[in-house]
Amino acid sequence: MTELTALTLTDAVEGLRTKRFSAEEITRAHLEAMEGARTLNAFTVETPDRALEMARASDARIARGEGGPLEGAPLGVKDLFSTEGVETTAGSRILQGFKPPYESTVTANLWRDGAVMLGKLNMDEFAMGSSNETSAWGPVANPWRSRGSNASLTPGGSSGGSASAVAADLCLGATASDTGGSIRQPAAFTGTVGIKPTYGRCSRWGMVAFASSLDQAGPITRSVSDAALMLRSMSGHDPKDSTSLPVETPDFTQFVGRDVRGLRVGVPREYRVDGMPAEIEQLWEQGVAWLRDAGCEIVEVSLPHTRYALPAYYIVAPAEASSNLARYDGMRFGYRAGGGTLTEVYENTRAEGFGDEVKRRILIGTYVLSAGFYDAYYLRALKVRRRIADDFDRAWETCDALLTPSTPTAAFALGDKDADPVTMYLNDVFTVPANLAGLPGISVPAGLDANGLPLGLQLVGRALDEGTLFSLAGALEQAAAFRAKPERWWS
Ligand code: GLN
Repeated sequence: MTELTALTLTDAVEGLRTKRFSAEEITRAHLEAMEGARTLNAFTVETPDRALEMARASDARIARGEGGPLEGAPLGVKDLFSTEGVETTAGSRILQGFKPPYESTVTANLWRDGAVMLGKLNMDEFAMGSSNETSAWGPVANPWRSRGSNASLTPGGSSGGSASAVAADLCLGATASDTGGSIRQPAAFTGTVGIKPTYGRCSRWGMVAFASSLDQAGPITRSVSDAALMLRSMSGHDPKDSTSLPVETPDFTQFVGRDVRGLRVGVPREYRVDGMPAEIEQLWEQGVAWLRDAGCEIVEVSLPHTRYALPAYYIVAPAEASSNLARYDGMRFGYRAGGGTLTEVYENTRAEGFGDEVKRRILIGTYVLSAGFYDAYYLRALKVRRRIADDFDRAWETCDALLTPSTPTAAFALGDKDADPVTMYLNDVFTVPANLAGLPGISVPAGLDANGLPLGLQLVGRALDEGTLFSLAGALEQAAAFRAKPERWWS
């Protein structure tokens, strides 16, 4: 039998249901793998006691024939999902020691369906970053390394812990979140599948907020079917989040493996960016060929406002962040610094509690929202955002989904881009438009570059049409037949 930790989520759930192994066994196998992989720094908190308790409860339910759709499956949780009684810091010192008295809706949905929590996963501080290097708890290592090199690479960010843990077989799947690419970019960097669903598909209740009009939860997994299975459990209307959509959750798993003949796939001409490595370009063309061979009709489309997406995102996201992060004053959550007066306590707490990137965003956000600059920056960015959404609406007249690279490069070295924030922001060029427009996007591993590092292709779809994305992603997955695994240098 395949090692229990190397199973897909789908196969593991089936093996549990048919009692080929117990939830306790598969949970112990994962806890052991986590222990052996601490050099990756993927987990910020391990919860072995809770995991075993949940696993035993799963085994009892399976014995009674009552298991849920994820019964007994060990998962990791990005550390911005509040977990009752378990430290939740969102990668920030300012939340150090914060144990939420409530459970986020997304994680509650997973536990309702029988999943087992292994622990909390490292991430960029407040999800601000593309390399996991802004985490107060140190960077995460990508299990993948360039051929012939021992240099540590980033797993991407902000869901770096989630991606690294899934790629290194430390959990069967992980929750993640995506404000500007934080599910899809780390998935691309680690050879895993990541989907950011339509804005409003998953409840944001109990998620530590970064930019509320962009934040969306989704899974990182090792296969497209796994992503469909996990997203189905995570999704659903929640009256506690006013932006949660009052719609039924389709059975996403039914879409994987469906015939894609006749679907029209758009190739946006503006996504050919300067300086993009030839390998990414080639992979993209390969992706087009795969979908054409599968019977899709390929159409060229134009998204003329694409080049304004990054600048608009880096105004809207910091603006919302500066407002959301105002609540961290040392009074209610986590860390509190000393000081002679109340104002000093506030100031010291924020000065010591936030890292540099978070401070940069608060400064930018406060600036673009200030009386003299609101119209010139924030309001204008909102208008650009509307235009970007209009571009997509126009594209849907001639196609059913778009195919693009997930990222402009493969995983880069730790320390490579942290000197210049703008170089780091350029990583998000292909992913932010979907956030600005609220559309679903999925990254599928599609090949390896010349250094043996994974590369991903992205599909973007109409609002609430994750089904079509799952069908197309399934076709890509089948054609790409990506089976490569990183060498286990960490254990
Ligand atoms: N890299 C982007 C940023 O730093 C996106 C992060 C995210 O999606 N959470 O804002």
